[in-house]
Amino acid sequence: MLTSTIMQPESAKSGAATVAAGRLFNAEDFAVADLPVPEIWDRIATAALREQASDVHFTYQSDGVYVGVRLDGRVCPQGTMPAELGQRLTNHVKVLANMDVGEHRRPQDGHISLTIDNRPIDLRISLMPTNHGEDTAVRFLDRENSLRELDQLGVSGQQLRTLAALIAAPSGLVLVTGATGAGKTTTLYALLRQLADGNRRVVTIENPIEYDLPGISQSQVNYRIGVDCATLIRSVLRQDPNVIMIGEIRDQETAATVVRAANSGRLVLATSHAAYAGGAIESLIAMGAQPHFVGRALRGVVAQTLVRRLCPYCTIRLEETADIALLEDVRHLLEPGEKPVLSMGRGCPHCRHTGYRNRLGVFEIMTADEDIRAMVSRGTPAREVYDYAIQNRMVSIAQAGKLAALRGLTTVEELIQNVSEIWSGGA
Ligand SMILES: [Zn+2]
Repeated sequence: MLTSTIMQPESAKSGAATVAAGRLFNAEDFAVADLPVPEIWDRIATAALREQASDVHFTYQSDGVYVGVRLDGRVCPQGTMPAELGQRLTNHVKVLANMDVGEHRRPQDGHISLTIDNRPIDLRISLMPTNHGEDTAVRFLDRENSLRELDQLGVSGQQLRTLAALIAAPSGLVLVTGATGAGKTTTLYALLRQLADGNRRVVTIENPIEYDLPGISQSQVNYRIGVDCATLIRSVLRQDPNVIMIGEIRDQETAATVVRAANSGRLVLATSHAAYAGGAIESLIAMGAQPHFVGRALRGVVAQTLVRRLCPYCTIRLEETADIALLEDVRHLLEPGEKPVLSMGRGCPHCRHTGYRNRLGVFEIMTADEDIRAMVSRGTPAREVYDYAIQNRMVSIAQAGKLAALRGLTTVEELIQNVSEIWSGGA
């Protein structure tokens, strides 16, 4: 097993700056300063938005309310508040989100629209009663951070060209797959914005709609009133669409309809939770879609995960060390003339002394050629289809991650923590 201490930021090694790592504020100070609750909420929301946090949590425990902020995918503790102050804060959030303030026993969902630093921002609030209080989770839907172009997501070089070719097809099925929080929505939105060039009618079915996309007709599943995915897709097909995006396939009827639409002149983008490209095909068939029709419709699968990106303010280049030997098998994937630049982050105020700032998508993009489509049609196990793609030079997630390390965008250590099968080449 590799122990890559060389990749540790200085701050993490010395321990001196670990208190500051990921700390945006100290919840203990709020009680001490006796601040009014609206001001506490303002300070938390502003700090979270400025640091591009994705979520804020108030977690009720027997000894108080723990405040946590998710930064670059990790929960960073921000101290504890007395339970009484936490409750007043949660009540304030309930009022802002138009929730039932008197209800403490049932889960509730709500929205808040805010303007911070002249930027409009939408928050999605979820309350869940636990044995110690109402746990409060706040999701920050930050347009600026989430609506990106494809090349800003981490797709580059050959992969970017492959992806462009996939969505250039006038019809067929493209699956985007990855765990929750792997950045699928960001990728889908980037693809849709590219497709919505004014000459195509683009329609989505989402649950929920996260961002308003200009030039695209977005509709939302609403189970409470019986508007499920299958109902919406039947209606969408009568809307003369060129491109359909389905946020989630949950039942057999939707699976079958999606595949039929992709076989009848529409380009369909759909998501899956599988961790690798082969798994997405497998799960669609497990849902009840016929392999024969899936094979006929399939254009390709995009699988992705996220790793932390090195901080541009404190990155230093490393001499070619023993670590580079671990990346030797992807050196040939560099663009012609490109040199490896193995790097590390020293830690600075811009990255809260972690050495990382923001995240980077790591992708594997499987193009379904004639052979793959035939294999899927005859029900070949997904793993075999995947192995065939790897043998035919598909870059796996593991290889794409290593390539990002070789390009100085992330570190070997980050890959070890976040990309499974990284040292087996992903195959
Ligand atoms: Zn930094």
